[in-house]
Amino acid sequence: MTDTLNAAASTNTASSTNTASPAATPAPVYTVPQERRVVTSVPGPKSVELQKRRLESVSTGVSSVLPVYIASANGAILVDVDGNQFIDLGAGIGVTTIGHTEASVVEAAVGQVQDFIHTLFTITPYEEYIRVAELLAEHTPGDFPKKSVLINSGAEAVENGVKIARKYTGRRAVAVLDHAYHGRTNLTMAMNHKAAPYATGFGPLAGDVYHAPSSYPYHDGLSGADAAQRTIEYLEKSVGATDLACLVVEPIQGEGGFMVPAEGYLPALQEWCTANGVVMIADEIQSGMARTGAYYASEHFGWTPDLVLTAKGIAGGLPLAAVTGRAEIMDAAQPGGLGGTFGGNPVACAAAVAVFESIESNNLLVEGRRIGDSLRSGLEQLQHKHDIIGDIRGIGAMIAIELVQPGTGDTSKEPNAAAVTAIAEYAAQHGVLLLTAGTYGNVLRFLPSLALSDDLIADALSVIDDAIAAL
Ligand SMILES: *Cc1c(COP(=O)(O)O)cnc(C)c1O
Repeated sequence: MTDTLNAAASTNTASSTNTASPAATPAPVYTVPQERRVVTSVPGPKSVELQKRRLESVSTGVSSVLPVYIASANGAILVDVDGNQFIDLGAGIGVTTIGHTEASVVEAAVGQVQDFIHTLFTITPYEEYIRVAELLAEHTPGDFPKKSVLINSGAEAVENGVKIARKYTGRRAVAVLDHAYHGRTNLTMAMNHKAAPYATGFGPLAGDVYHAPSSYPYHDGLSGADAAQRTIEYLEKSVGATDLACLVVEPIQGEGGFMVPAEGYLPALQEWCTANGVVMIADEIQSGMARTGAYYASEHFGWTPDLVLTAKGIAGGLPLAAVTGRAEIMDAAQPGGLGGTFGGNPVACAAAVAVFESIESNNLLVEGRRIGDSLRSGLEQLQHKHDIIGDIRGIGAMIAIELVQPGTGDTSKEPNAAAVTAIAEYAAQHGVLLLTAGTYGNVLRFLPSLALSDDLIADALSVIDDAIAAL
């Protein structure tokens, strides 16, 4: 932490630092010291006051993981209204991937606010939207002509991907995988694995959505080829390829618990989709935008999807999402059929351009790999000490641990949701914000920003070590 402060203090006198060479990327300047600091109980008194007001005015349908109210954020640190500083291992669920209030994003957004805030691209367009579409075409997997549409949220990207695939194929059915999460709109509620809390009582749900078995190596033990065969058999028998418009797949499942599919699984599904005229769509909303050490997680699996969905991390925290893919599929939609009032908002687009530039100029793909290596080796040490850590999985800054009942990690792998809840609670009390996940609620997921230093990783893991010991 002190070295980042020193770096911040010395940015105007680069020649005085002993490590920096003149051509090197300047060290990031943090406006908040990158350190954990707990100065009140959690939540503190000011947060408790705000929570009272919130319960009077905000629907209980909107819940919060940790009711501490945030005053500022920078890099990998959240500062609450009581002055507590949290190591943020959630990044707003993988949104502030390049760090909170990253300087170039702030500058781009402020500049755009001053120029113009809204015109509506479908009335009078602007260059920023085109630039984002160009960058998406450049960085999504696949070397073929691509086009994009920009919208506001991940769920809206899923909805648009399905609309476009249906129009292109002239077919109706939509397939997803077990343990999937795709959003909270009417169509996407029907595409999630979990009914509660996302769909319970909110029906009727959209029809023609089919849930196929997935690849979950820790539990099914299947090779990629065998898991793909099982998925394909379900699709052929229960849906019928000729009725299937699209198969929507998260390359690493997010809410489901960061399941990394067995090798060969995704390319085998793509091959079957291509052979059967089915559009295969990668939901990279959580796994994309440099998080895994590649722009898109699909790349790790040798998978080139027909369409790619981007949202969460694309604009540094501003709301923006995209469907990008094969030009002939994207152009199937009739003029006026896609879009929306706020879709591709110029401020969000300007921020997204800055995010892409920052990934390049700050070598953030390398940072994703660094965080993955550092987290994984730290978690492996914890696994040696604590036999409730059944599985460690994920890629880059998208790593999770699955917690099981003591001694069942190699046998029945019985879920241990109580441990997950207790560890997350202990961590929060000690200044570490940790997210949970998993169909059985027994997964702790690490989804930090790429600004997270190795020092902060070690500090956070020491808290988690204590939390497990305190169970
Ligand atoms: C978050 C998420 C969504 C939904 O995005 P919203 O912006 O919340 O609508 C869809 N798919 C995946 C994989 C996600 O992680």
